[in-house]
Amino acid sequence: MSDHYDVVIVGAGTVGATLACLLAGDGFRIALVEARAQAPDEARDPRVWALTLASERILRRAGAWRRIEPAAIGAFRELEVWDAGGGGRIRFDAADIGAAALGSMVANARVQAALSAELDERPAVTRIRPARPVGLHFRADGVEVALDAGGVLRAPLVVGADGADSAVRRLAGIAADVRGYGQTAVAADLRTEIGHGEVARQRFLPDGPLALLPRADGRCALVWSTSPAHAEALLGMEEADFRAAVEEASEAVLGRVLEAGPRAAFALRLLRARAYVRAGLALAGDAAHTVHPLAGQGVNLGLLDAAALAEVLVQARAAGRAFGALHVLRRYERWRKGDNLATAQVLDAFKHLFGSPLVPVRRLRNLGLDLTDAAVPLKRLIMRRASGLSGDLPAIARPGADV
Ligand SMILES: Cc1cc2nc3c(=O)[nH]c(=O)nc-3n(C[C@H](O)[C@H](O)[C@H](O)COP(=O)(O)OP(=O)(O)OC[C@H]3O[C@@H](n4cnc5c(N)ncnc54)[C@H](O)[C@@H]3O)c2cc1C
Repeated sequence: MSDHYDVVIVGAGTVGATLACLLAGDGFRIALVEARAQAPDEARDPRVWALTLASERILRRAGAWRRIEPAAIGAFRELEVWDAGGGGRIRFDAADIGAAALGSMVANARVQAALSAELDERPAVTRIRPARPVGLHFRADGVEVALDAGGVLRAPLVVGADGADSAVRRLAGIAADVRGYGQTAVAADLRTEIGHGEVARQRFLPDGPLALLPRADGRCALVWSTSPAHAEALLGMEEADFRAAVEEASEAVLGRVLEAGPRAAFALRLLRARAYVRAGLALAGDAAHTVHPLAGQGVNLGLLDAAALAEVLVQARAAGRAFGALHVLRRYERWRKGDNLATAQVLDAFKHLFGSPLVPVRRLRNLGLDLTDAAVPLKRLIMRRASGLSGDLPAIARPGADV
C-alpha cells in the first residue's frame, strides 16, 4: 500500500464518505481514515435523515442513492409546525411549489451502508479502519498524517470530516466557538395508531421542539429536544410511560403510540469552527459546524460542504493549480461558511423564540406562524430554500443535475 495520496479524508460518516465517492469519481486517489471498526447499524444509530432534494442529487452523483432500496426511502410531502403555547400553526405543502415531495427520509445507517457499498467498488479509495490521526505535520509539499495504528499518510490535502469532536480540527490548531443549547435530543422509532400520511410534524414545547418524522415503513422517527434532566427521565422510563409521555407532548396528533423502539440521547450544541481551511487542510460537515436539529438541516449542510469542496478541488486541478493551496481552499470557505452561519443563526433564533415563556413573545410567534401560513409567496420562498431548490448550490446539487 502506497502512503501517498491526493487527499486524506478523516471520518467516513455521511459527509466524509460522500466526499470520497465524489473525488474518486473525478480521478483523485483517496485515503479514507475511520475510527470505528464497523459502520453503524439501525439498532445502534436511530438517526433518520430528512434529506433535501439537493442532498438527494449529491448522493445520486456519489453513486450511493441507487444503492438504497426504494422501500427504505420515505417521502415527506408536508411539514406541519405548531406551538404548544398558543394556536399558531404553519403548514408547508410540496404541492405549493409544484414538487412531489419536500425531501426524503432515510435512516443514517442505510445511507452509510449505500456509501460503503459504493466505496467497495472504487479502487481509487483506500479505506483505513479502525484508525485515528495522532499528528499532522504541515510541510511545503503537503501534509503528513500520523495514525495511532502506526504509519504515516502523505497528501497535498487532508480533510477533517470527523464530526463535532474533530481531532483534525484540534491537531490543526483551529479554534471553535461552542455553546451548549442546554438541551438534549431523545431519539426513538415509534409505531402510532394513526398513519403519518407522509407529513413531518413538529410541536414547539417550552423545553424544546418535538418532531415526528415520517419513515418509509410507516413508523415515525421521534426527535424530542428537551432539558437534560427531562431527557434523562425519558430515557429511564418504562416503555409504557415513555409512550404515554410522547402521546401527551405531541397532543396525540397521531393517536396512541403503540410501540417505541430503543431510545438514544444526544447533547445539543452550536459549534462554529473559526476557520474552515488552512494551507493543506479543510474541514467539512459537523467538524466545521453543528446546528440545532430542529429543522433537520445538519447533514444537508454537510453534504453541500462535500459537493462544494469537490467542485473547488476538481476545478483547481483541471486548471493546473495546486489544490491544497490556501487561496484555492479559501474559495470553498467563502462559499460555505456564510451559508452555514446564516442557517445556524436562523435555527438559533427559532430555538430562542420558541423557548421563550414570555407572553408577548408567545403571542408574537403565534401571530408570526399564522401570518407566514397565510403568506403563500413567503412560504414558497422558504420551502424552495429549505428543500434545496434554490440558493448558491454546487453544480451537482442544482435542479436538473440529476444523473
Ligand atoms: C438527535 C439528532 C438528530 C439529528 N437529526 C438530523 C436530521 O434529521 N437531519 C440532519 O440533516 N441532521 C440531523 N442531525 C445532525 C447530524 O447528525 C450531523 O449533522 C451529521 O451526522 C454530520 O455528518 P458528518 O459526517 O459531518 O459527521 P458524523 O456523522 O459525526 O461522522 C463523523 C465520522 O468520523 C468518525 N470519526 C470521529 N472521530 C474520528 C477520528 N478521530 N478519527 C477517525 N474518524 C473519526 C466517526 O466515527 C464518524 O464515522 C441530527 C443530530 C442529532 C444529534
